[in-house]
Amino acid sequence: MELLGHMPGVGEKTAERLAYHILRLSRDEALALADAIREVKEKVQQCSSCFQFAESDPCPICADPSRDTSTICVVEQARDVVTIEQSGGYRGLYHVLGGRVAPLDGVEPEDLTVDKLVEKVAKGTVKEVILATNPDMEGEATAIYVRQALEGLPVRVTRLARGIPSGSHLEYASASIVADALEGRRDMKR
Ligand SMILES: [Zn+2]
Repeated sequence: MELLGHMPGVGEKTAERLAYHILRLSRDEALALADAIREVKEKVQQCSSCFQFAESDPCPICADPSRDTSTICVVEQARDVVTIEQSGGYRGLYHVLGGRVAPLDGVEPEDLTVDKLVEKVAKGTVKEVILATNPDMEGEATAIYVRQALEGLPVRVTRLARGIPSGSHLEYASASIVADALEGRRDMKR
């Protein structure tokens, strides 16, 4: 119960319910769950270039020679990469920040992979950085922070169009809305 209670969105009551559910599972079902957790931690790692989760490093997207290496799409979470890939309209690379600037939750800019993004862009081969953080307050603040961090580097910085409902999250948007938001991206004001 204690460990389950550390999962996001799981309070004390839910942790209790899950724990009793696991007790009622058959031995095979319970061990399959344990094995899946072990397997994901042993096989899946973070790509050292884009920080998304993958079974190889570099990940299949970074290693794909057909991807456009001059464009980097910056997202908050690894699962946002899946959302954008499903939209089918993007052929560039990604950069996973590993969260968003949220001082109230104790997440400071230094906790994100912004410095690694700046390093990458400073090499000079990246022509456009698309900021695809969520269109809510913290996502916007994060986009502004990243844009400022890239200040002075010769790169175009764009933001997703406002097709995704304000306050909503990328992961809940449909593939066509995400594709439209990418298509209609605009330059970010300095
Ligand atoms: Zn990668």
